[in-house]
Amino acid sequence: MARDYYDVLGVARGASDGDVKKAFRRLARELHPDVNREDPGAEERFKEAAEAYEVLSDPTRRATYDRYGHEGLRQGGYSPAAEGFGSFADIFDAFFGGGFAGAARNGPVQGGDVAVSVEVDLAEAARGASVEVSYRAVARCERCKGNGAEPGTPIETCERCGGQGRLQAVTRSPFGQVVRTVACDVCGGDGKVARTPCTVCGGEGRTTAERRVSVDIPAGIADGQRIRLSGRGHDGERGGPAGDLYVLVRVTEDERFVRDGDDLVTVVDIPATVAALGARISVPTLDGPQDVGLDAGTQPGETITLRGQGMPVLRRPGRRGDLRAVVNVVIPRKLSREQRDLLHRLADSLTERNLGEDEGMLAKLKRTLAR
Ligand SMILES: [Zn+2]
Ligand SMILES: [Zn+2]
Repeated sequence: MARDYYDVLGVARGASDGDVKKAFRRLARELHPDVNREDPGAEERFKEAAEAYEVLSDPTRRATYDRYGHEGLRQGGYSPAAEGFGSFADIFDAFFGGGFAGAARNGPVQGGDVAVSVEVDLAEAARGASVEVSYRAVARCERCKGNGAEPGTPIETCERCGGQGRLQAVTRSPFGQVVRTVACDVCGGDGKVARTPCTVCGGEGRTTAERRVSVDIPAGIADGQRIRLSGRGHDGERGGPAGDLYVLVRVTEDERFVRDGDDLVTVVDIPATVAALGARISVPTLDGPQDVGLDAGTQPGETITLRGQGMPVLRRPGRRGDLRAVVNVVIPRKLSREQRDLLHRLADSLTERNLGEDEGMLAKLKRTLAR
């Protein structure tokens, strides 16, 4: 059962062309194969979004769909472009790199966006890091300077379309004859053809090339945040601006710290005897272990807060969250006879004064039990 195209793109039925385009670009960024290598559902979702966009971005198709739904489109001879492609990446290029199949191309066209993902550990996320990313992007062909002709050979007006770049295609449908404008199949919409196509790009004027870019990861970045590098995406066509590069940052889990906003939380194991007596203990921080005073009589679950030892606050230089160390009191096990005797003597000596809870702790306990 095909889903409603408006639902797929998450736009209202009356959405403007601009909103449709924006919604599709946003989805495409989320579902890009470079970002979603592990998600097997991404390809299907992208095809679905591409099909929805193909229909809703075309006034004729959209009108047919609004009146007759999916069935009306099929009867009208429409089939989604995404079905004819091989790999996920090919489909993507078709939409963002190589221009839209069927649309007439004449003026400058902005290049598509590219999405990549990088992985950093918590320490790098805290310090900030510079990470090299490499990716393939559509670039203007250097050999022909983008005009598709082997250097020194002429470029002629396309005979098939007379230089218009467009052809009228007439199809019969249950609703009568439908005249559609499609890109010229000889010149691909340019209106011009190279007599001798460029040997590097095959006349396309564009090739895909490997690019390496150094990305500055700002201190304090969180898992799942994106960095946009403007103008680092696919090159535009006919003088159009390049698209953007979106870098999805994944912060790997750390064994010692759990992140809570800008705060870091860690657990320190403290023997029951040390908790009772108090001591200098070692607490792990991002900058290495730090000696901290533990009060005598510290209870399980109490927290030691190290102010300003958490994560840096993103784009607020000098500001940092806190580090909270939760005390896990460890009760001694596998006691020797002598240790048991010592504990018995201790137990016999304890009085109400040693074991009585202060008001705050009792209230805390009641709250715990009430959950
Ligand atoms: Zn070329
Ligand atoms: Zn042509």
